[in-house]
Amino acid sequence: MADFLEFYPLRPHNTLGFDVTARYAVPVRSEDDLVQALDDARVASRPVLVLGGGSNVVLTGDLDAAVLLMQIPGYRVDTVSDGEASLVTVGAGENWHATVLRTIADGLPGLENLALIPGTVGAAPIQNIGAYGVELRERFHALRAWDRQTRRFVTLDAEQCAFGYRDSLFKQAGRDRFVITAVTLRLPRRWQPALGYAELARGVAHLPAPRPEDIRDAVIAIRSAKLPDPAHLGNAGSFFKNPVVSAPLRDALLREHPSLVSHQQADGSYKLAAGWLIDQCGFKGWREGCVGVHDRQALVLVHHGGGSGNDLMALAARIADTVAQRFGVRIEPEPVVI
Ligand SMILES: Cc1cc2nc3c(=O)[nH]c(=O)nc-3n(C[C@H](O)[C@H](O)[C@H](O)COP(=O)(O)OP(=O)(O)OC[C@H]3O[C@@H](n4cnc5c(N)ncnc54)[C@H](O)[C@@H]3O)c2cc1C
Repeated sequence: MADFLEFYPLRPHNTLGFDVTARYAVPVRSEDDLVQALDDARVASRPVLVLGGGSNVVLTGDLDAAVLLMQIPGYRVDTVSDGEASLVTVGAGENWHATVLRTIADGLPGLENLALIPGTVGAAPIQNIGAYGVELRERFHALRAWDRQTRRFVTLDAEQCAFGYRDSLFKQAGRDRFVITAVTLRLPRRWQPALGYAELARGVAHLPAPRPEDIRDAVIAIRSAKLPDPAHLGNAGSFFKNPVVSAPLRDALLREHPSLVSHQQADGSYKLAAGWLIDQCGFKGWREGCVGVHDRQALVLVHHGGGSGNDLMALAARIADTVAQRFGVRIEPEPVVI
């Protein structure tokens, strides 16, 4: 039987470090725990928040909700019938970075570009995590989830998950409907390094034939130098998504701002670097009371302690409005605001 914890402090469960409580919190260590918890009147009568590592949520106040603390373990390797790939099925509660390290140690490369992303495996499909030129969807086979609408376990493939840039079914039509219990990754046997991201390519340029371990280490080194560690300074990683604009708008902006940072997409549109836009508005290192903007990375909003999620969202709105006024482009928060 799942434990019910009352008036449970969530500060250790969100990397921004906001001090809020949940009316109930329930550690979920198995699929049975999950179904039992959802059937319990204390959960059924309240909003439910599914929480992994809390590295992509902004908690704005105490929650009269039931929080499911996802801790389902598991790690299993299968080989697909044609021998071309390995399928690695991982419990939703496993730590993402530990899983990346474990697959590489097991001789199953493919996730090295996604090293050091905080959080759990079960949350990785929610925003189709991505970094250094690789997105989860490129290594994804299927997931298993409890469908709260039909009250049964379902298996969803990549197409059903409708992955997009920091987006999926679970942030759109399927929001609050599915609780992911396991994710199956597809790691091709024939490994090729993904070095499309210039900073990463430079990091391994001195090696004639970089191995997965080299790329893993380069990613870890770049990220450690650039991103604040939530254990020391509350943050949720990149706070804004990079806005995608049409080619004519990007060309017009480039004429006005020759140092504009943009990347062409497969469909001809352009992704603008939100961090550059924010930096140009003078927000790098900005502080407003207990919250602010990181002094080395304008895309990262930080919590210095003693503040609230509402303070952070007020700052985020001010930054987005300033960027919109200056560049005519709307930037949107990446984390889920609760
Ligand atoms: C320093 C730092 C760096 C980061 N870098 C990156 C990066 O490079 N790329 C990137 O994409 N992200 C990055 N992130 C964001 C974050 O790490 C990812 O989004 C991660 O997948 C969130 O995992 P989590 O377990 O902490 O999710 P949580 O924050 O706990 O939850 C996020 C959302 O997923 C839902 N959810 C969680 N688990 C489940 C489940 N099992 N079933 C259903 N819904 C669930 C929650 O309800 C919530 O809506 C970074 C964050 C930090 C703090």
